[in-house]
Amino acid sequence: MAVKLTLANYRTNVHNDWCPGCGDFGILSAIQMALADMQLDPSNIAIFSGIGCSGKTPHYINTYGIHTLHGRVLPYALGAKLANPSLIVLAVGGDGDGLGIGAGHFVNAGRRNVDITYIVHDNGVYGLTKGQASPTLKRGLRPKSLPRPNINEAINPIAIAIAAGYTFVARAYAYDNKHLKEIIRKAISHKGSAFIDVLQPCPTYNDITTKEWYAGEDRIDPETRKPIPRVYKLEDTGYDGEVQSPDPAEAEKKIAVALAKSFEWGDRIPIGVFYRNPYVPSYEERIASRIPNYLTIPPARQPIHDAEKHPTADIEQIMEEFLVTEA
Ligand code: SF4
Repeated sequence: MAVKLTLANYRTNVHNDWCPGCGDFGILSAIQMALADMQLDPSNIAIFSGIGCSGKTPHYINTYGIHTLHGRVLPYALGAKLANPSLIVLAVGGDGDGLGIGAGHFVNAGRRNVDITYIVHDNGVYGLTKGQASPTLKRGLRPKSLPRPNINEAINPIAIAIAAGYTFVARAYAYDNKHLKEIIRKAISHKGSAFIDVLQPCPTYNDITTKEWYAGEDRIDPETRKPIPRVYKLEDTGYDGEVQSPDPAEAEKKIAVALAKSFEWGDRIPIGVFYRNPYVPSYEERIASRIPNYLTIPPARQPIHDAEKHPTADIEQIMEEFLVTEA
């Protein structure tokens, strides 16, 4: 009988140096809970990170992991998945890392629909480097780390992800880690590129979009005398972003609704799955349609040396059919 994996199987004993109260903790625990819930073998998971506070995430999860370069988390993650399509691949990074310097990779990954999950820690600042404005900080806001209000417009990560072609696009909130866990589970189960924008307070540098602000503690319901939370769940409103048929016209309709919804902000901030289309072929399926050997003997599943340590990788095994097909 298989041994049941628990949360302890996905934790490491690496010292965690995030600031107390950081939303990163909620994201980390949600990832670990999702992996444990799904009983995924840690030895078949690889987690990649960029540079930033969130870059430490793979250090704290007991799977394979690589802490990569600034803005380059997606090329690493995509490369690993394409080399070994049976691997479960997660990429994590900050909003500055992925939507600033890494924006080109973010957009172009959407076109391919490689089967990975990309989680962005979105706090509006570059926390690791003392709180400069990130691409998601709204124009006119002045968190305590800035000498003057932000002069740039903010980008909309949900709208960009949908326009770029991601086939699973969601937003979550770091302090609601049970809901985030469910979103991560759905994202990992989805066959294709999944993007999750996680709203994540940075108590050290961003004193505007704080935990208290998301909870609506500055506005009290006169009847209940309780705060009116800004974050609400799409699924509680009957919203359904799931495409139900391969008809492109249906996908277009869902995209239009999801895009409109993605601009809702301020007093009401939706979280949940904005859009999912299971009918777009993954990149792995597209490659396999040209190279039939690809899924059976992908590069990472071939022996790399013989008993004498001579290299044995033979790309021609994979390419044989491809060359015949293309001839
Ligand atoms: Fe978290 Fe901000 Fe501290 Fe970074 S600087 S660990 S994002 S609270």
